[in-house]
Amino acid sequence: MRRKVASAAKPNLGHIALASLEQALHDRLFVCTQNVDNLHEQAGARRVLHMHGELFKSRCDSCSLPPFADTSLHESPGELPRCSCGGKIRPHICWFGETPFELEQILQALDDCSIFIAIGTSGSVEPAASFAGHVAGRARTFYVGPEAPANRSLFDECFLGKAGELLPGLFSF
Ligand SMILES: [Zn+2]
Repeated sequence: MRRKVASAAKPNLGHIALASLEQALHDRLFVCTQNVDNLHEQAGARRVLHMHGELFKSRCDSCSLPPFADTSLHESPGELPRCSCGGKIRPHICWFGETPFELEQILQALDDCSIFIAIGTSGSVEPAASFAGHVAGRARTFYVGPEAPANRSLFDECFLGKAGELLPGLFSF
């Protein structure tokens, strides 16, 4: 169901602004998303870290088969796909209670960052909600989103509104 919904989604101007920023800054920009869709990639981004995984990838729940591209919808009930090892094939996403991906790389990027921007996130889902606190005192911190996040006090400045409307005007390069 999630794949079906996500297949119909298109990137907004916010995704496009971030992809343009990536082209301008290269590896000086680190984009980490909690979203499992591929809208950043559809907008042209090439270096996005999906900390909650990627909906259009699958992996085996038993063996070390690397995650692979998978757009199939598996709509017939009771027909879960199987790996050649006999294990179940599952979406390569982080379910509730599972540990997000690549936390070490994310913490390294937080250690190195001078400008931190949280976009459209509630500020209530850990560990992402703690990232702004991790950089506090070392980096300038900004929030962009429709309403003030639960962790508002961690940000130097909040821009309230839709990311698709605010982001294109936020960066000049
Ligand atoms: Zn397997």
